[in-house]
Amino acid sequence: MSDAERPTDGGVSGDDDFEPIQVFPEAEEMDLRPGADDCYKCSTCDTNCPVAEVDDEFPGPKFQGPEQWRLKRQEDQDVDDSVMKCSNCMRCDSACPSDVPLSQMHNTARGEYVEEQMDKFSREYVRNRILANYRRLAPLGSMFPRTTNFVMGLSATQWLGEKVLGITSERELPEFATETFREWWTKRGGAQVTNPDKRIAYFHGCYANYNTPEVAKALVRVYEHLGYEIMVPDQHCSGTPMFANGMLEDARRSAETNVRELAAALEDGADIVASCSSCSMSLRQEYPELFDFDGTDDVAENTWDAVEYLRVHEDLEAELEGTSVGDEFDDFAYHAPCHARNQGLDGQTLEVLAPIDGVEAHDVGDSCSGISGTYGWKAENYETSMKIGEEMVDHMEDADAETGLTECPTCSMQMEHGTGYEITHTLEVLEAALVGTAESTATGANAQ
Ligand code: SF4
Ligand code: SF4
Repeated sequence: MSDAERPTDGGVSGDDDFEPIQVFPEAEEMDLRPGADDCYKCSTCDTNCPVAEVDDEFPGPKFQGPEQWRLKRQEDQDVDDSVMKCSNCMRCDSACPSDVPLSQMHNTARGEYVEEQMDKFSREYVRNRILANYRRLAPLGSMFPRTTNFVMGLSATQWLGEKVLGITSERELPEFATETFREWWTKRGGAQVTNPDKRIAYFHGCYANYNTPEVAKALVRVYEHLGYEIMVPDQHCSGTPMFANGMLEDARRSAETNVRELAAALEDGADIVASCSSCSMSLRQEYPELFDFDGTDDVAENTWDAVEYLRVHEDLEAELEGTSVGDEFDDFAYHAPCHARNQGLDGQTLEVLAPIDGVEAHDVGDSCSGISGTYGWKAENYETSMKIGEEMVDHMEDADAETGLTECPTCSMQMEHGTGYEITHTLEVLEAALVGTAESTATGANAQ
């Protein structure tokens, strides 16, 4: 070490001549996020990866994350194309004992792969772009929902979808609602409760708006029943399907709008709640990991899953004690979505529903449903997706229940596809117990 580099007694503090040494001159080009170097190769992430479990060719999260990052530091390596086989279930994040930010690494690597290595005229790119940008197509589909549903339901359309775009024809495309949640919300005149002390901003996401408004209406009825004032800010897709498909610029544009609108709602004294576990996951974890718009951290810190928020802020046990859901529902086979698990919410639904008379929810285990958003819609992933979901389907069929229950729209599609059961959302059960009008099975009484 030369004299110039050797620290002197006065060199640490209080010496105006002290010049800091640049230990890693190349540091600006290296990824030094916390956790990136913390992998000690235990392989726990690999043994918890549902894709690696059934697909021998998938190298697993350890390779997709820390190993690729290390390789890329040493030389200018391309991102391995297997990153597109990761379903973005995020189970590896929760499994890692060393808090390595695996899904952040996957998202970044996938974004780089799509941006720099993927042929923008390939069928895969076009198909993925369409799947990732559901929110842009859904308004067109819901302009004439009955016609769209008829056309989408034709086997010829599904056959074409598979041949031309590579979207599996094995699944039935989800139907559009005849009235979107936002149309209903406007028609009823918005919030029916004013309460500056209990105010929430509802992030409904795309699916509850265009396809299952009964879930969003259940949230409104339950929260208003408990005295909350509800705001429904302008919003774009949460970005979940964009992250999963490496469309980071699309995700960035959506996130910018969402952060701006939700941060404004925070200023108005609201907390943010989401009814879809992937949307809350996105706002809470992926936004602060990948973006730095003003307000991103505030939005992340003040976002809640809709059931979690009530569990923490209300005495739900007292509210639900002695209530029942009549004949509207059977017992439930409950699947906790991976993105709910990642937020530590896997046990809450069984706990919350327990005080309702006559309701029994059976946990169908901790396996992944296998569909993971857009992953299971791709023709080349269909078989893998069904293999991953086999355990969940078997447990649903073994459970003493014929209605499925979950908080994730795509898990719900897989549950229905695998069992033929009707699938409902926890908020709909709470609505039936507290308000008595679950729209998915009730015959009327849904004017507001
Ligand atoms: S679980 Fe974490 S520490 Fe273990 S191999 Fe995976 S990334 Fe590395
Ligand atoms: S996100 Fe899921 S599919 Fe992707 S590597 Fe992690 S565990 Fe495997």
